This record gives sequence, structure tokens and C-alpha cells, in this order.
Amino acid sequence: QVADTFAKEGCSSPSYDWFQTDSSVTIVIYTKQKDINLDSVIVDHQDDSFRAEILIKDYSYIIHVELSHEIEEDFSVRVVENVGKIEIVLKKKENASWKRLGHPLENHNSLIPRKDTGLYYRKCRLISKEGVTHDTKLFCLMLPPSTHLQVPVGQHVYLKLTITGTEIVKPYTPVSDSLLSEIKEPVLLNNKYIYFLIKIYPAGLFTPELDQLQIGDFVSVSNPEGSFKISQFQELEDLFLLAAGTGFTPMVKILNYALTNIPSLRKVKLMFFNKTEDDIIWRSQLEKLAFKDKRFDVEFVLSAPTSEWNGKWGHISPALLSEFLKRSSDKSKVLICICGPTPFTEQGIRLLRDRNFSKEEIHSFTA
Ligand code: FAD
Ligand code: NAD
Repeated sequence: QVADTFAKEGCSSPSYDWFQTDSSVTIVIYTKQKDINLDSVIVDHQDDSFRAEILIKDYSYIIHVELSHEIEEDFSVRVVENVGKIEIVLKKKENASWKRLGHPLENHNSLIPRKDTGLYYRKCRLISKEGVTHDTKLFCLMLPPSTHLQVPVGQHVYLKLTITGTEIVKPYTPVSDSLLSEIKEPVLLNNKYIYFLIKIYPAGLFTPELDQLQIGDFVSVSNPEGSFKISQFQELEDLFLLAAGTGFTPMVKILNYALTNIPSLRKVKLMFFNKTEDDIIWRSQLEKLAFKDKRFDVEFVLSAPTSEWNGKWGHISPALLSEFLKRSSDKSKVLICICGPTPFTEQGIRLLRDRNFSKEEIHSFTA
């Protein structure tokens, strides 16, 4: 039935095959799609189970087996983009010839709507934790060597901890380690590290527990989710970012990606809303980036400033937006991204719609 729906969308069902040499086993997946890249492939080898999930439009194609023989921890993943072919090369522990790949497990060789796949988790080690503001920290987690996972720009994951016997799950948006690092992500040590900027709420359920973890402790990290698509940047000229508090987190990778990869881009403006100056995440990095890259401007708006503050203040409002949303030309292609507390985001969307920006020109980040 799923394959029928898939076929109606003009897609043929994926399939897989495998072959071996003395020292390796290669699993080849034919997605028959052109827009497949390394972000589309999630592979986990945990205990006896080998699981590959290939994200194809709103579906997942799953390979899930108990391998017939042991393999080494690390493996490689290659994507031939123009034909949508994926190769996963496993290293055999022993040189024996395999008669079969393994015993099929749940959902093996099937195509499932993404909303029905459920969240799949792997345990990641806490590598470092560094204070950023009085209540926000930069956490670095390391994926296990037996996982291939890249979180796409604009998407989030779920972190899971067991707190007094109950599993608690909350969404967080990975960031780059900095706004200024010269080495861009794909080469960053095989993408084994995931960074998060997380505000600790003393009375919160999840964040105080996360903050209690010691270096070397484990947190479970889910597969990525979210509706943002890189194609929203195509031919983009003006990018406006409206962020409040930790709603800044999706803007980090968006900023890095847009400034590096979108040749048509003329202007990127961030309006960053916080309560006080002390709450501003990465203020000096933002100011340095604005100095370094003339296409980028940042403005800080405080809702509870001290009397010394001589910048902008208040909540998101028509007056603040009319000054901020100046296009580089009348007909320029525009994208406005907005993220923060729900009332902020809802109010922002209303004001943007009042100013006649279309739904396609506005992307709001929500769960
Ligand atoms: P909670 O238990 O949810 O409490 C938060 C605060 O609200 C506390 O001060 C608490 O005292 C107060 N509170 C709780 N319940 C009530 C109530 N009934 N009445 C009044 N006050 C109440 N956060 C980040 O820091 N970084 C991110 O990158 C990030 N990404 C996100 C991505 C998505 C898609 C979404 C939806 C959220 C994201 N968040 C992010 C927020 C994050 O998921 C959590 O909501 C946040 O960390 C708070 O979790 P908590 O369990 O510690 O606090
Ligand atoms: P905060 O309480 O420090 O507030 C930051 C700013 O938001 C304020 O200065 C104000 O300008 C604005 N604001 C707050 N309440 C408002 C209201 N009622 N109306 C208009 N503006 C308001 O923010 P925080 O504690 O850092 O919280 C950040 C929020 O962003 C959280 O709710 C978190 O869940 C959300 N978030 C969502 C995503 C996502 O959906 N992808 C990602 C990250 C964070």
C-alpha cells in the first residue's frame, strides 16, 4: 500500500543488494531518487542489530538485520548522488565467506511513512560542557563510532534521559561549535561531534538533570526531525532572522550555511530579542561576524534592559519590524526565519502576514 502511494508520487520503490570480498561486505541501496545525500542516510550498529534508515521525501526505507557474522565498529558510507545509490561498506572481523547478510528484524526492507517510523535513539557520550551566558551552556556530544548521522540545517533532535525511573525526552537544535570557525562542518572530524546551546532552567524537568551529567556520561540522541528544507535558500537574496532567547539555536547553522553556500545572497539580518544584555548568546561572535562579513548585520532588542542600555528595547512590534525588514531591492527573493517562545513566534507571524509576506516567505520553527 505504501509502495502504491509512493508510486503515485512518481517514485519507484527502493531496493537493496549486497556483495562481499574477503575482508568487507558492501550493502548497496538503490533509492532511484536524485536528491539523496549523506544527510539522507542514518546507520546504526548496536549489539547484534544493524539498521540503516534512508530518508526519501516523507518516507523511510529501512534495512534492519541481525548480521550473520561479526563486523568491526567503524564502517563507511558513500552516496552516488546523480543516481541515488548508497554504499555502506562494513569490515569483516574474520575473513570467512558470508552465506547471507543476516536475519531480518523489524521493518527490514520496507518503506514506511516517516511519521510512523518512531524515534530511534543511540547513546552519545558527553565530551565537554562550557558556560556561554549565566544560564546557557554549550554541550558537546560524541556519536558512537558505529553510527552515521548528520543533522540537516534547520532540524532538531530529541535528547532522552532516564530521570527517577522515567524516560524524559525534549527537543534540541544542534548548532556549530562557533559562528566563526573556518573549518566548515562536513570535514569536521567525520561529523562525530554534535553541539548544543542549552539554557538551564533551575525549576525545569530536563535541563537541571542534563546539567548534572559528568564528562563521559551518556545521553540518548534521536534521529533528526523538522520541516526546514535547504531548498528554501534557492536563489535567495535577503535572509531575515528573528530570534528570541534560545530560539537563536536554529539560526546558527542557517547563518553559517547561507553565508557560505548561497551565491545569490546579498543581505542577512538578525534581530535578536533577549531580556537583558547578560542573556545574549554569543554576542561578541555575532559582532565579529558582522564586522568580518559585510552582508551580515545584527541588532539586539532587550525586553528588560538596565538604564545604561541605549540600544533598541521592547517586544516584537510593527515599528521594530518595519525598520528591520528592508529588502535589498523591491522584488528580491526573501526568506524570514522566526523562532522563540510560542507567543513571540505567533505574534511575529501575525505581524509578518500583516506586512504581506507570503506563507512561503516565512519559516517558523516549532516542535
Ligand atoms: P520545563 O520543565 O519545561 O520548564 C521550563 C520553565 O518553565 C521552568 O522555568 C519551569 O519552572 C517553567 N514551567 C514549567 N511548567 C510550568 C507551568 N505549568 N507554569 C509556569 N511555569 C512552568 N532549548 C534550548 O535551550 N536549546 C535548544 O536548542 C532548543 N531547541 C528546541 C527545539 C524545539 C523544536 C523545541 C520545541 C524546543 C527547543 N528548546 C531548546 C526548548 C527545550 O525543548 C525545552 O523546552 C527546555 O530545555 C526546557 O526544558 P525543561 O524540561 O528543563 O524545563
Ligand atoms: P526568554 O524568556 O529569555 O525570552 C526571550 C525574549 O522572547 C524576550 O526578551 C522577549 O523579547 C520575547 N518574549 C518572551 N515572551 C514573550 C511574549 N509573551 N510575547 C512576546 N515576546 C516574548 O526566552 P527563553 O527562556 O530563552 O525561551 C526560548 C524559547 O524558544 C523556549 O520556549 C523554547 O522552547 C523555544 N525554542 C524553540 C525552538 C524550536 O521550536 N525549534 C528552538 C529553540 C528554542
